[in-house]
Amino acid sequence: MSVELPEAQILTEQMTDSLPNKKIKSYDIQDSAKLQKIGFMNKKLKDYERLVGCTVKTITHRGNTIRIQMNKKMNLVLCPDYGAQILFHKNDGTLPKKHHLKIEFTDGTFLTIRQTGMGLLYSATDQEFKDLYVVKRDFSDIPSPVGEHNFTFERFKELLDAKGQNIKAAIVGKTAVVVGLSNAAFQEIIYKAGIHPKRNTSTLTEDEKHDLFDAMKHILNERICSGGKDNWINLYGKAGRHTPVMGPNMKGKDCPACGASIEMIAHGGGQVYFCPRCQT
Ligand SMILES: [Zn+2]
Repeated sequence: MSVELPEAQILTEQMTDSLPNKKIKSYDIQDSAKLQKIGFMNKKLKDYERLVGCTVKTITHRGNTIRIQMNKKMNLVLCPDYGAQILFHKNDGTLPKKHHLKIEFTDGTFLTIRQTGMGLLYSATDQEFKDLYVVKRDFSDIPSPVGEHNFTFERFKELLDAKGQNIKAAIVGKTAVVVGLSNAAFQEIIYKAGIHPKRNTSTLTEDEKHDLFDAMKHILNERICSGGKDNWINLYGKAGRHTPVMGPNMKGKDCPACGASIEMIAHGGGQVYFCPRCQT
């Protein structure tokens, strides 16, 4: 499954509890050719060697890009966009069979990363960090839908009104007015807001914009509080508890609010499930 802002935030918090002051002893890379070819891993595998001897300082994220900042001006950048298992291990007893990157710390603990879908894991100097595509995308001026106090309804409305575009394009991808969300969050948010996936933002009423803003905050905060989506595994290998209110898990089911059969359309490069009665 895709990793979105709530899961990236949980991973960041858990890494902040577990990783600072750990020194990298060694690394191991497997199955990297495909990810290297599309630029999601460093072209030169030797670039990862620069991490050896570095000590983890701080972990931050914006959108779904996570920055593990080290001393010696080095960073490990993780952007698990389309799915990854990012796991911390207290010892070598729980190491997975497969990984793309395995990092061993000098205290005998490990961090392993296995992309299950497309996503980035990159060794970068502070300078290289700024030039990464995912960093430009997520560490940008575009507001974060949760966790930033200056992101008010007024600001959201202003950004929505600035471009009349399909509601999905306003929430997900290059033209989105917020960072960190993909198709999964989109389906939940517009279901909760009662908005049809094909709507254009220029047709939204003031009330609908409010509903959209409130639904976005509610869904994302709820997902963070519930430890992430129920088909996702956190840094310690534990599954989240958030069951999506709308999405593929609702296939063939009836809307819990009105009893209508849930429908699906291909829309904006993905499948979108929705209630034809509640979402207008
Ligand atoms: Zn309904």
